[in-house]
Amino acid sequence: MKQYFKSIRFRIWISFVLFALSTTLLMYFAQSVLTPIFYGYVKASECTSTASTIKGLLSAEELDPVELNRVAGELAVRNQIDIIVNFPNTGVNLIKSKAGNGDVLQRWISDSVRESIDNDPDNTLMVRVEGDASGGADGMILATNVIRGDSVAAYIFIYSYVEPIGTTLSIANSLLFIFANIILLGACVISIMISSHIANPLVKIAKNADKLITGEFSMKVRKSEYDEVAVLTENLNAASVEIAKTENLRKDLMANVSHDLRTPLTMIKAYAEMIRDLSGDNPEKREKHLQVIIEETDRLTLLVSDILDLSKLESGVVQTEPVYFDFSQHLKELVNRFSLLDDAKDYQVISQVEDGIFIYADTRRIEQVVYNLINNAINYMGEDMKVTVRLFRKSPDTARFEVADRGVGIPPEQIPYIWDRYYKVDRSANHKRAVKGTGLGLSIVKGILTKHNFTFGCDSKVGEGSCFWFEFAIPKDIPEEGLNALPQ
Ligand code: ADP
Repeated sequence: MKQYFKSIRFRIWISFVLFALSTTLLMYFAQSVLTPIFYGYVKASECTSTASTIKGLLSAEELDPVELNRVAGELAVRNQIDIIVNFPNTGVNLIKSKAGNGDVLQRWISDSVRESIDNDPDNTLMVRVEGDASGGADGMILATNVIRGDSVAAYIFIYSYVEPIGTTLSIANSLLFIFANIILLGACVISIMISSHIANPLVKIAKNADKLITGEFSMKVRKSEYDEVAVLTENLNAASVEIAKTENLRKDLMANVSHDLRTPLTMIKAYAEMIRDLSGDNPEKREKHLQVIIEETDRLTLLVSDILDLSKLESGVVQTEPVYFDFSQHLKELVNRFSLLDDAKDYQVISQVEDGIFIYADTRRIEQVVYNLINNAINYMGEDMKVTVRLFRKSPDTARFEVADRGVGIPPEQIPYIWDRYYKVDRSANHKRAVKGTGLGLSIVKGILTKHNFTFGCDSKVGEGSCFWFEFAIPKDIPEEGLNALPQ
């Protein structure tokens, strides 16, 4: 429960409700305290301006009784007041009653009042009149006189309520009650909507973050419509993807290492035991057994680096870092390195490379592809002991790289599988064991080329040889900084 009071949901809801309540209280205060004061001021100023208008008419040189009657009537209606114009000489009263308290006013008029007006320095009295016991509203009376020559020509008495009366007040109160409820209800609905919009994704994110702790990295939180929450979701999703990659790499490595390293290690151990127990004294046998140990150790080294490469590629931990570079020039240098070995070994790597073909790729990774393909070709080449490396423009926009040999070839039904890890073509009939093969070379090639979005493949015929190839778009408009990144 304590936890709930601390939640965003509750905090937003309570803030809105408190805001709505304080707004309502403010409105109630304004209505009950400020409105009567303001109303009183307005009414007083209406009475004063009415008195001065009537005074103006009465002070005119020739009194126009019809006009006086009309104006007084209009003012009484407009301001909802009672007006009595009393002519002391004739005793005539002009009465216009719209506030409904004309008789109160009439009762109030007396000689003593008239005397007080005459004696007042401003000739004006303003008196507050309390509402009757039956709950009537308070009122005010304004009394003044009009002097013509030396004598008083007329007295003006005006009565007005200074509080909202009757229905006005009850309408205002009912409206206040209705509005207060609408505001309160609106505040509740809006706050629940906003808080659940913000809180729900946060709760989901928190639950998913819990999963991360328990080792489940495949979380995917739906994006929220609020920017801040969306950024948090995005970051957490990205983080979980990265953690999942590293976790997969770890699992992969564990599985591969334990599976793949066991065979060569068993061999090394077996041959070492054989040397210790059997062939130690026989130099010829010992030499043979030691040779196996050396070869298996080489294989082990190769295997470890291949496993690492492949695991990194497949788990997505390493990203390619493509740059623009002159592939033709780079390829010539690579093939040259193999050619230097030509003399030591008895094979030949022939280079047919068109000049000036650029590529946008990760230099080190493409080098690895070239090496793996040439190595395979050398391992599986035919009697002619020749491997051909080609690079040429296939169209103005695309170029093609090929490594071809005239070796054993691959049966068509097995071609789709050679890219799988540890797949080895079954050659029981025409067996020629790859000396250094780990079964991972082509998987690495596939991983790298897929990451570059290059198309690749293998054309092969049993007995005639194989051609491994990949194609790529020749980059146009190479940016200046791209050229700076050319491999040296
Ligand atoms: P390996 O290390 O065994 O060469 P790869 O993944 O590089 O593993 O190749 C997978 C299989 O594809 C090889 O075992 C081999 O049977 C076949 N292969 C690859 N390159 C050639 C080639 N140039 N000629 C014939 N077969 C090939």
